[in-house]
Amino acid sequence: MKVAFIGLGDIGEPMASHLARDPFDLVVWNRTASKAEEFARTHRARVAGTPAEAVRDADVVITCLPSSIEVEAVLHGENGMLDALRKGAVLVDCTSGDPPTSRSIAAELGGRGVDFIDAPVSGGTTAAKSGTLTVMWGGEITVFERVRPVIEAFGKKIVHAGAVGAGDAIKAVNNALLAVHILSAGEGLAVLVKAGIDPKVALDVINASSGRSNTSENLIPQRVITRAFPRTFRLALLEKDIGIAAVMADDLKVRTPLISLTAERFHEAREKLGEEADHVEAVKMVERENGVEIK
Ligand code: NDP
Repeated sequence: MKVAFIGLGDIGEPMASHLARDPFDLVVWNRTASKAEEFARTHRARVAGTPAEAVRDADVVITCLPSSIEVEAVLHGENGMLDALRKGAVLVDCTSGDPPTSRSIAAELGGRGVDFIDAPVSGGTTAAKSGTLTVMWGGEITVFERVRPVIEAFGKKIVHAGAVGAGDAIKAVNNALLAVHILSAGEGLAVLVKAGIDPKVALDVINASSGRSNTSENLIPQRVITRAFPRTFRLALLEKDIGIAAVMADDLKVRTPLISLTAERFHEAREKLGEEADHVEAVKMVERENGVEIK
């Protein structure tokens, strides 16, 4: 099966690595060509010079780009994929995209005999490396069946979310919850540190109690207490996801003050910490505002 992979970023690169073996014949394209060349040095894959060249013979094309804006750009830009995609191919967009753009891409490709599913992923770079990502996909089951082996190469829990865009919708809300958990755990622990309580003791209690979350169980102990703050998922991308959730809520006239406030706070964190900061570094903003370190 000929597979083209577009976007070898923090999560795209480990996902693509599972496709660099039988039964797949992999070609990769990345905007910064040196990353694609490095990938091909260490994996069984060919490098394409343009998105068009990458997808020309592909049965399945995976995109894993920051947002739907870049997916549109790679489709419609110079040497883009649109005219090169062959009839009968499937574009699997693993970007955490926005539902309306995914629906419009699906409609445009559908008119050309190319199928589309949105298939955002969850589990972070660790699950991407071990091929155990959660994949939430939107689209037709008959289309999914044609790409199932590709998605199973990096996914473990694979869920049909609904029509095109439904995967993006669940992903945006999931990540809005993650953002709420990061800020609320940061704020709660800042209070306890100010009160003179050891945050490790507090986490020991919270993680055996009802306030626990993935953030309190894993992110804070592994990344904040240790002061390691590794870059695995850019804060800017999480801010984008909360924004998608907030727009969905607005469009659907659902009152979500907590999501709106979290979107504002992550916007502020992005401005203060920059485009390359990791998402967990939002805790640093809370720490600085309160003159404490959670360690
Ligand atoms: P990164 O920012 O690490 O990588 C983005 C990729 O997109 C890079 O390959 C980059 O190329 C490429 N790119 C950026 N802008 C353009 C453009 N204008 N045209 C073409 N290519 C472009 O992102 P991630 O890999 O972390 O994330 C990818 C998607 O997966 C996002 O939607 C994210 O929200 C989602 N995601 C990420 C997770 C994570 O843990 N990192 C977890 C779950 C979902 P270049 O190398 O040239 O910069």
